[in-house]
Amino acid sequence: MAQDLTGASRRGLLRAGGLTAAGLALGAAGAPGYPAPAETDIGGVQDGRVRYPNWRGEAEPPPPPAPNPLPPGERVGYAIIGLGRISVEEVLPAFGEARMSRPVALVTGSPEKGRAVARRYGIPESAVHSYQELEKLKENPAVGAVYIGLPNAMHREYTERSAAIGKHVLCEKPMANTPEEAAAMVAACARARVRLMIAYRCQYEPFNREAIRIVRSGELGRLRSIEATNVQSSGTADQWRFDRALAGGGALPDIGLYCLNATRYLTGEEPEDVFARLYSPSGDARWKEVEESVSFMLRFPSGVIANCLTSYDSFNDKSMRLHFEKGTVEMPDAFAYRGQQMYVAQRRGGVAVREQKRIEPKNQFAQELDHFAECVRENRQPHTPGEEGAQDQALIAAIYRSAAEGRPVQTPKPPGPTRGPEPAQGG
Ligand code: NAD
Repeated sequence: MAQDLTGASRRGLLRAGGLTAAGLALGAAGAPGYPAPAETDIGGVQDGRVRYPNWRGEAEPPPPPAPNPLPPGERVGYAIIGLGRISVEEVLPAFGEARMSRPVALVTGSPEKGRAVARRYGIPESAVHSYQELEKLKENPAVGAVYIGLPNAMHREYTERSAAIGKHVLCEKPMANTPEEAAAMVAACARARVRLMIAYRCQYEPFNREAIRIVRSGELGRLRSIEATNVQSSGTADQWRFDRALAGGGALPDIGLYCLNATRYLTGEEPEDVFARLYSPSGDARWKEVEESVSFMLRFPSGVIANCLTSYDSFNDKSMRLHFEKGTVEMPDAFAYRGQQMYVAQRRGGVAVREQKRIEPKNQFAQELDHFAECVRENRQPHTPGEEGAQDQALIAAIYRSAAEGRPVQTPKPPGPTRGPEPAQGG
């Protein structure tokens, strides 16, 4: 129904949206032949950005501002190194939802895949390179950063080679296969004065960020324990994930890492010790070199105990439960690519309730790409720099040691802070 707004009520609506008519470059005409549109309908431009006044009633929260992407030429250009599943199925499509990042070059062992992907994303064929030609990226000023989506054992070499040609590095998790490799990667990027970030996508995902906020706020009392599970089933043995030299381990460094990293970002602490058990059934070619399942318990200085479970041969479950003094937070798909949910159980108004929190989902891969782009543009330390990955690498080594020795072991402390400033939940 058309609304006949008086000047006063229009101004009221604009103010409700945090905008004033004076702040907007108004004055656009509607299409000829129709009644003139109200200011509420047209919106306007403020600080170079299209904005609309809030058209909703007070009962609802105001809608978020319209996306504000940077013009393509001002975005950080990424070279994607490795056209495997994570690059092709998740990261490249996520650029479509990114505001500060764009794909500008590809490095691949398959010219055919390179050409097919380049065509889909508007990347010139001249910017598709083989692994041997990686150094050609140096001559391409459009490339500000690289994204490394290769098997784990290759992360160090490709980080070092990219740093040596002055490109900032966003490297997939797990950062490396050993703490020594991780330390070498941090040192190489520091020497070359480039930023290094590890792709811990969950730390940029809104539901996980809300879980962190709940812990810090104390609104459910103290956090007492965490249950974190990341299990999935695996196919045939002919994959690099079952090759120790390429993968560094089995379920633990690949998917158990999400549980481990979550216990650290949720508590904001480093564990004091760990006790682990490992299981790999015999007679299965997949577990000749790497483990199938690991269960590990971490103890934190505040008294929080975290029970983590990871397996390469169980029906998919990527869930987390946080037990507080006064409530429980359940996240059924905490570590999944999408589809996060959050349920909070507590006593309120004399009754026990279990409520679903409604949080606006965001593409966590796009959030991650844009966070790193922002850090590159503003020369800032990323929220999950190399130091964050290096600490997990040291803890993975401690988990394997505990399982091998059959007893709890002390865990190493990082030499300094492992995380940079909080990421903006940009719009
Ligand atoms: P994948 O097997 O689908 O892709 C690996 C790519 O590396 C392929 O394009 C392959 O051609 C290339 N490659 C080059 N040399 C190789 C070699 N010697 N052996 C095998 N492959 C070789 O793997 P993926 O699932 O895309 O994983 C790549 C990286 O991304 C890994 O470090 C993995 O842990 C990480 N990853 C992260 C997430 C996440 O959610 N952040 C999800 C999946 C994988």
